[in-house]
Amino acid sequence: MMLSEEKWIIEQDKFEVSPVKETLFTLTNGYIGVRGTFEDLFYNETPGTYVAGIFNKLESNVKELVNLPYFWGLRIYIKNEYLNPLNCKILEFKRVLDMKQGILYKKIRLKDSRGRITKIEGFRFISLKRRNLALMRYSITPENYKDRITIESFIDGNTINTSNNPKEKAKHYILENTLALENEIYVEAITRDKKNIVSIISSNDFNDKFFYRNTKNNINFLSEIIEIDPENGKSYTITNYISVLTSRNIKKDFLYEKNMEEIKKARTLGFDKLFEEHKEEYDKLWKIADIKIEGDKKADKALRYNIFSLLSLANPEDNFVSIGAKGLHGEGYKGHVFWDTEIYMLPFYIYEYPEAAKAFLMYRYNTLKKARENAMKNGYKGAQYPWESADTGEEETPKWGEDYYGNKVRIWTGDIEYHITADIAFAIREYLRATDDWNFFLNYGAEMFFETARFWVSRAEYNKAKDRYEINEVIGPDEFHEHVNNNFYTNYLAKWNILQALKYVRFLKENYNEQYRKIVEKINLNQDELKKWEIVANKLFIPWNKESHLIEQFEGYFKLKDRTISEYDEKNMPKWPKNVDLSKLNDYQLIKQADVLMLMHLLPEDFDFKTKKINFEYYEKRTMHKSSLSPSMYAIMGLAIGDHSKAYEYFMRTALVDLENNQGNTALGLHAASAGGTWQAAIYGFGGMYIDKNEKINFKPWLPEHWKSMEFNIIYKKKLINVKITQNNIKTIEKILPCNK
Ligand code: BGC
Repeated sequence: MMLSEEKWIIEQDKFEVSPVKETLFTLTNGYIGVRGTFEDLFYNETPGTYVAGIFNKLESNVKELVNLPYFWGLRIYIKNEYLNPLNCKILEFKRVLDMKQGILYKKIRLKDSRGRITKIEGFRFISLKRRNLALMRYSITPENYKDRITIESFIDGNTINTSNNPKEKAKHYILENTLALENEIYVEAITRDKKNIVSIISSNDFNDKFFYRNTKNNINFLSEIIEIDPENGKSYTITNYISVLTSRNIKKDFLYEKNMEEIKKARTLGFDKLFEEHKEEYDKLWKIADIKIEGDKKADKALRYNIFSLLSLANPEDNFVSIGAKGLHGEGYKGHVFWDTEIYMLPFYIYEYPEAAKAFLMYRYNTLKKARENAMKNGYKGAQYPWESADTGEEETPKWGEDYYGNKVRIWTGDIEYHITADIAFAIREYLRATDDWNFFLNYGAEMFFETARFWVSRAEYNKAKDRYEINEVIGPDEFHEHVNNNFYTNYLAKWNILQALKYVRFLKENYNEQYRKIVEKINLNQDELKKWEIVANKLFIPWNKESHLIEQFEGYFKLKDRTISEYDEKNMPKWPKNVDLSKLNDYQLIKQADVLMLMHLLPEDFDFKTKKINFEYYEKRTMHKSSLSPSMYAIMGLAIGDHSKAYEYFMRTALVDLENNQGNTALGLHAASAGGTWQAAIYGFGGMYIDKNEKINFKPWLPEHWKSMEFNIIYKKKLINVKITQNNIKTIEKILPCNK
């Protein structure tokens, strides 16, 4: 195995336990995710092993993505003494995330207190080709001794959620059917409420003679022990195969049998072949999705890291899961799915990996039933998608949290951050427009679209005095302001949702009449109701005085205390202006993240240049960027109005959010929305990509002065478009390639 060239790798060259590195070095294939802890599993690490869609609640506040048994355990002992790297002199150390090959490589040379030097080198990966498999291979070399070496390969079933917070610790599974077989160790982790079963099997190949070899079952800790009497300077290789299956897709009674088959198959195919296949899968994806920036190595690599994370998190084979706000990289937000997927990440998938985009939309289709129940429970019609979603699509937002001072506060987002319902409809349109996948739309998309429109019609309140419909008591994208009336973003997108649904009604009636009939029959949609949609949409209040151009984020916003940002910290991010009470953010015009501007990004054709400019200038001074979802949007909108001054900074801010931990919470997981925002800032921002009213794709690029070029591919309407932008008069080159996707 050779490591890829510099631009593909993220390195750690100092040996230390680092929760941030654990997140950055997470390997995932959208099905399994394992944090980048060391194989030894040190007591001060935060291990995380997750399987998409496996949630549990117990006495926790809300359902959590379950931290499952850690299966990549490997410890070395010399003469029965644990070779603990934390107590050794580190002679050489390197860990490398190789994004091209999708592996985590490690090399470490250690000297213990008796002067014995051991080298351990190898890598691990989670197969992108066969998603149930995780593999690892290490060679162990005693460099200056012949003492007996014991290798302990283990599965640790003592892992728990939120291990570093005593109040919130939760053990969501118990181990059953633990088996120490001749060549395998086997466990079934059963989630405690739902009784989902995750079956894990581990099996090793050892390339040499051994003195002793056996498996052991210590109930919560299963291991295979291999003991050797080594030759001085010789390398010994252990190859570990893991297979993970769950009762989500295999009948409980067959799990053991099926997993045994899987592990045998894996071992027959062998490590090298499995690794080849895995690399080929990454190659295929990279060929389309890689973006090359010449002239700025840092930006080039940071962007690649974000793309790597998004590519790895997708699983087009599973229509029942979506991406949590923190990916499969940690327990922040408990693994819950937000609008982050549809509005921030989906554009990447739509234009680079449409099969994945479809699977994520199917997740919303498969949770439509719960969205209907949610609407009904709240007294509305149609489908109301939850602000936070997990496995079933029920509302999972916690009710209580803490403010900036640590005071206990009620969290209202789950009750009133409604816009997610329109965001999902919006994403369906984006997907359909780019792919022309009418098959999807007719079978699933239209139904969701109509049900979301129906929700808005029932949610809007008629104000008789003003003869208009309003949407009151909401939270818009900017979460500093709660219980506001007529949030521009929410109302505008709700209206758009209804009007677009009416357009689809007309279009389907005419072009796909038979399917149209089926859908309306299924959801019981009649002419009277459609008439009502028309009325509500036309009378839905949009707080926008077109003459002044400046849009009020919600009714009454301009009357709030006005504080503007004038100071920036060492990372060039806004400092809180003076005289702001952080426990009363509702009272100020300061906002957490893009809100009015967010909408202008989503529907760029609806706003003229002047309106964008005036709003950008107004809101930028009042945006604190307290969400990692914010800087990317300001990069894009700044570029849209020709203000290039901060675009690069905003871009780097979002691109490096995890690599440099610039929000300070990377330890809790990846900022997956920011990863999508980074891609959008590159493509919509610097690439200037936009789709016009005639569905034609256009590019109006601008590159930072020090960039020589940027090259990327876009899949649009079943074509692969190669775009190379250079500084030379800002020239775009488009190649239309046949695309087999
Ligand atoms: C942001 C939301 C986002 C959520 C999850 C919050 O801090 O305000 O917009 O959906 O984080 O990433």
